[in-house]
Amino acid sequence: MFWSSFLVFALPLVHAASVPRTLHDSHDDHTHEVDQALPGSWYQEPDHPVHSLFKRAPGDGTNYPAVGTPQWSAGFPVPGTPITLPQAWASALNAAVAAGKIPNIPQSTNTPNTSPTYPQGVNPNSPEVCSATYKCRIPGDIWDSPTGVFASSFDDGPLPPTTQLVQFLQSNNLKTTHFMIGVNILNNPTQFNTAFDAGHDIAVHTWSHPYMTTLSNQDVAAQFGWTMQLIHNSTGGRVPRYWRPPYGDSDMRVRSIAKEVFGLDTVVWNQDTLDWSQASTQPIQDSMNRFLAMPKTPGVMILEHETSAITVTAFINSFPLIASNGWNFRSLAEVISNGTSYQNAADSGSSVSLKGVLVSAPTSSTTSSIISTSAPPTSATSTPSPSKTNTASSFRANVSYGALFSPLLVGTLSAVLLFLS
Ligand SMILES: [Zn+2]
Repeated sequence: MFWSSFLVFALPLVHAASVPRTLHDSHDDHTHEVDQALPGSWYQEPDHPVHSLFKRAPGDGTNYPAVGTPQWSAGFPVPGTPITLPQAWASALNAAVAAGKIPNIPQSTNTPNTSPTYPQGVNPNSPEVCSATYKCRIPGDIWDSPTGVFASSFDDGPLPPTTQLVQFLQSNNLKTTHFMIGVNILNNPTQFNTAFDAGHDIAVHTWSHPYMTTLSNQDVAAQFGWTMQLIHNSTGGRVPRYWRPPYGDSDMRVRSIAKEVFGLDTVVWNQDTLDWSQASTQPIQDSMNRFLAMPKTPGVMILEHETSAITVTAFINSFPLIASNGWNFRSLAEVISNGTSYQNAADSGSSVSLKGVLVSAPTSSTTSSIISTSAPPTSATSTPSPSKTNTASSFRANVSYGALFSPLLVGTLSAVLLFLS
């Protein structure tokens, strides 16, 4: 109980207190260089390790415990304690390393009040490192949204302000993408359900919000794996497709672990309201006014947080200006994936593929092809239906056996949990 109360309120404070402003500088100059293609193929082969990381139970067997129950949280790392890497994920990581798919570059060091720093002689803007903290753009990572689109997302939830945010968007018949922190899901199951049941897209913002480039390969994998596992268990078996690095801190090594081991695409941003750092709504709204007056190409990929009444209220106050300035408000995950927000499902209300085939990634190294990072779903084969519960029984009737996805999608992602079933 103590931890629960503590973390709910402490995380945003830690976030705000420990994030140097420079790390959240706006990326509005659009001058980032594309350095080089990543090693290896990004096409998810049938033997891609993620296929076996989040298995489906024989015959579906999706009797996931109800979100918020002791059975649901049992087996997950206790918030505030070190997290370990289960053997299956360690093996998948080791296989990726052995295959040369994870660049062998040094970890950065967490240095208070400034950006993480690499060892002397290591250039964070070199093609080998390409740190997003230093505004180096890795081909295939997602920074911009399509022309005219306001790609909406909120980081650091679920938290108490999530409720107000979801209710507001529901009243406008809209949804957003929530980049969620694993421990916050454990501590705020009601708010998690509020977002998911409203049809919002759920994505990964790591387990405990560290600077990811400062971590070992094993710790990076644990941050991804546990968050994905918890989202998987809490959404009727959906496998998240996107992650956003806390503080925007990612590099070639971290994003390669995300992609090669877990099939996750890295999403950054091109406009930052700095909402987390403000003591009132006006400066945030001023930022929004400025962004919304900018040219429509590229579209706005905005960084906002659902951490306080201030951040949420500022968004609500600015919301009418999005349409009045000619922008098309869309959920980030929906718009950049052409409607397949998860690796094995179109969205929070549609059917989950039993086969769980993964979405293939582009083989090109261009960053301008964010729309083509996935094949569109063959809508004729799926019949989306709203879901109001996280229990798997409600999804059982909606199973599409993989027909939801295009033939480009490969492999089998069977279903149950490795450790918690
Ligand atoms: Zn964050």
